[in-house]
This record gives sequence, structure tokens and C-alpha cells, in this order.
Amino acid sequence: MSLTPKLLKDAQIKLNNTHNPVFMPQFGFGTAANADELEINKEAIKVAVRDAGIRCIDTARFYGGGKIEYAVGEAIEELIKEKVVTREELFITTKIWPNQWNKAQESLDKSLKALKLDYVDLLLQHWPICFLEIVNPATGELYGTPHDEKTGKPLYDETGDYITTYKQMDAIYNSPNNTKVRAIGVSNYAVSQLERVLADDTIKTKPSILQVELNPQLNQEELVKFCTKNGIVVIGYSPLGSTGAPILKLPEVNEIAKAHDITAYDVIVSWFIKKNLAVIPRSLNLQRVAKMKYYYDLTDDEVAKIDQIGIDKPYRHIDEDFTAILPGFTGRVKTENK
Ligand code: NDP
Repeated sequence: MSLTPKLLKDAQIKLNNTHNPVFMPQFGFGTAANADELEINKEAIKVAVRDAGIRCIDTARFYGGGKIEYAVGEAIEELIKEKVVTREELFITTKIWPNQWNKAQESLDKSLKALKLDYVDLLLQHWPICFLEIVNPATGELYGTPHDEKTGKPLYDETGDYITTYKQMDAIYNSPNNTKVRAIGVSNYAVSQLERVLADDTIKTKPSILQVELNPQLNQEELVKFCTKNGIVVIGYSPLGSTGAPILKLPEVNEIAKAHDITAYDVIVSWFIKKNLAVIPRSLNLQRVAKMKYYYDLTDDEVAKIDQIGIDKPYRHIDEDFTAILPGFTGRVKTENK
């Protein structure tokens, strides 16, 4: 049976825990990238906004070796100059990387400068982790994920407490002169870590957002239930299973796609929208990006069938050595087979 396409740009979610009403597009464009992909990323963002009508862009201080924010900034500047969009129509997210866990303000200011913006719509703590601040003598920049030269192990700052980053973000958000951030949230937190933030009376503004890996193989049922109960909106990252899009090869997903004569990609995006989750896929294929316009109304049975994939055989795609200290992660090294 064929389904009627619905416009993604009309799907919005209201954020809680904000001073003023903030609406976030449910669909955003991901920008995790390698440092040698900046030009094509900039072009992809322009196609996403101009041709597909996407208004939400997810970026981070750390992406592209600290360079992607410059490409995002250039794309936004050109789109505004070309009158494709106004700043107010866009929803821009950036994140604080754990090598600046104790320097939230500095990280935000660097992001704003790179993005050429006066404010971001959403600021996230990227990981509940504190890295040691170590300067790479070759570049003069901080190592993103510092490792011990001898043991090869990630170097955490043992004196640090991950909640410090969120407390600093809370202070920025609640400062009387705040014009730089419209909403704050966290990423890669587990339920136990969210509970800690919610129970802390020194924190004035609870997270509006939790951004975590979420896809049919990792449906994060417990986290989503907890967030829904506490008014936290969930954004799913790596919705396609990250590089190579392995999720699009799952037979259950393809069966549903075939039944409606839509693509496996359409099925995944539609699954997110139906579940009231936000989603931020990435693509550097400009033809694909231009088509990121629609979702379809899947049935409850189809949604349940996709949910079942992760219940039967859960698999986490983003699971790097430095994540081993986090609940739910294994710290699997990249060379291991999936
Ligand atoms: P995704 O799950 O979005 O998958 C990206 C891959 O899917 C690329 O290889 C892309 O290839 C491919 N792809 C996209 N569309 C299609 C299509 N229609 N058909 C076939 N293949 C397709 O990857 P990410 O891990 O990047 O996750 C998305 C975003 O989430 C990131 O870019 C980032 O913004 C965010 N993120 C946040 C994290 C966090 O810790 N908070 C961690 C990881 C990601 P191609 O380019 O050739 O189209």
C-alpha cells in the first residue's frame, strides 16, 4: 500500500526546561566529518537547507578535528546572504567536548566564533567524561582524545567530575545577560547520570535534550521511557548505524520499505517521527541530501516490528575505547569486527 508523503520540515517538538518557548525541528542534519571533508560538508549543508528545506543542523566543537564548525559557519553565512533563510529560521546545535570539560564558556565562545553566530539554539555536553587537557606540540591545539603514549589508554582527568560541565552550562544559560544559548542538554548520559542531574538542587535548569545513539539495533527503550517521564526530548544520533549505513540493510526494514514502495532510509526516518523522537542523519551525497524532505505514517505494527530488532539483537555502533568507563558502553576498539 502506498503512503502519502508528509513534509519533514513541518515536524517540530517543543522543548521543556527553557525560559522562553523553544521549538526544535524533529529532523536535523548531522555534520560529524573528517577534516578533509570540509568543502563537501559545507555544500551538503547548503543543499540540505536550500533544496530539502532542513532547518536544524547538528554540529560539535570536536567534529572534523575542530574544523567543521568553520564550514558550518560559512554555509550558514552564505545561505543567509543568498536569502534562502534567516538566522531565526535555523536551529543550530553545538557541543562541548570532554577536553574542555571545565571550560564550558571558552568552548561555547570558540564555537560561536567558528560558526560566526551570536547564539546557538542548543548547547549540549558531548560526553559525561573529563579528559586531561594536553597540548599537541605539533599543532598547539588540545588533543581531542588524549592517550597515554606507553599504554595506549585514554587519559582521563581523575580530579574531574562530569557534572561540572553541565553546571557551567546551567550557569551560562541562567546568567542574567545570557543571549548566547536558547536551550541546554546532554549527550551520552545513562539513566543513572540523568538522575543525578535531576536530583541536584544546585542546578537551576534541567536538560531539555538527551542526544544518544538510537536506531533499530539500539532502541534505548529504558532511556526513552525515563526521558519521556521527565520531559526530556530525545535526539537519536547515528540513526543509520553510522558510516556505511548498516541499518539500511536490515531485512525487517527492507520488507516494510518494499510493502510501501519507499526506501529503507524513508522507513527509518519515519520510525523516528512516529515515535516522537528527533533524528539527525548525515550524508555527503548531494542527491540524497536534496531528497531529505519527507516522512511517512508507519503503522503501529510496523513500528513494533522495527523496535523488536533491537530487543532481539541489540548492537551499539558508536563504542570507542574512551567510552569504556560509561554505563552501557563496552569501549570496543575500532579494529574489532562488528
Ligand atoms: P548516520 O547514522 O547518519 O549514517 C551516515 C552514513 O549513512 C553515511 O555513510 C552516509 O553516506 C550514509 N547514508 C545517509 N543517507 C543514506 C541513504 N539515503 N542511503 C544510503 N546511505 C546513506 O551517521 P552518524 O554517525 O554521522 O550520525 C549522524 C549524526 O549524529 C552525526 O553526523 C552527528 O551530527 C551526530 N552524532 C552525535 C554523536 C554524539 O556523541 N552526540 C555521536 C555520533 C554522531 P553518504 O554520505 O554516502 O550518504
